[in-house]
Amino acid sequence: LLVAHELYRFFHTGEDETFALRGVSLCLSQGEFVALMGPSGSGKSTLLACLTGLDEPDGGHVLVDGMRLTRRSEAARARIRARNFGILLQSGNLFPHFSVEQNIRFQMRLADRTDDPRVDELVEMVGLRHRAHAFATQLSGGETARAGLAVALAANPPILVADEPTAEVDADTESRLIDHFETRRRAGLTTLLATHSTALARKADRIIRLHDGRVEDD
Ligand code: ATP
Ligand code: MG
Repeated sequence: LLVAHELYRFFHTGEDETFALRGVSLCLSQGEFVALMGPSGSGKSTLLACLTGLDEPDGGHVLVDGMRLTRRSEAARARIRARNFGILLQSGNLFPHFSVEQNIRFQMRLADRTDDPRVDELVEMVGLRHRAHAFATQLSGGETARAGLAVALAANPPILVADEPTAEVDADTESRLIDHFETRRRAGLTTLLATHSTALARKADRIIRLHDGRVEDD
């Protein structure tokens, strides 16, 4: 379903060159629940951005459901992204002047005044019932991350890609999220999470470990 072949990504910062990805290849099958692990700076976020077409690698290619995502126009990438991915990055994905609930409804493309029980279910699942009507700008860091996750999940995407989705959640919320990831797997949906949580990784079908921009273990 999702294939990366020999991805390279370099960053130039002043005199320095950082090699964030040095030849990463992987292949995810439909319905897999995969944890991406590795130390801070090992390239996890860079890899997720390249896999979803938010960033363009300097070398290698990405295929999503048989479609090439790399070296395409921004518009073509956006189309493939919208069709295939729900994405939560560390940088966030909320519209600031929408409430939590409005952000979710927008992602679900719900018309005004249409009720859909999934909106409340998502708000409940990420533990934000009491903040459902708060604007994104009024949320704490942890609340922002959880609202972002609800938005990434809202369209029930074929592939969920999330960067540290449980970094700032309490134990109850984490176990609700794990249940949700298992429901996704049963429904044949694919989930790829970058995480430092061993509790979460234990539930995964597969753990991919990055070290210094390379796959150390799969
Ligand atoms: P963490 O667990 O801390 O989130 P990570 O595994 O997600 O770490 P990345 O964010 O992918 O790590 O970063 C990999 C390397 O690339 C790091 O050395 C980082 O400093 C560097 N890097 C990432 N993005 C950029 C950028 N836009 N410009 C310069 N260097 C970058
Ligand atoms: Mg990261």
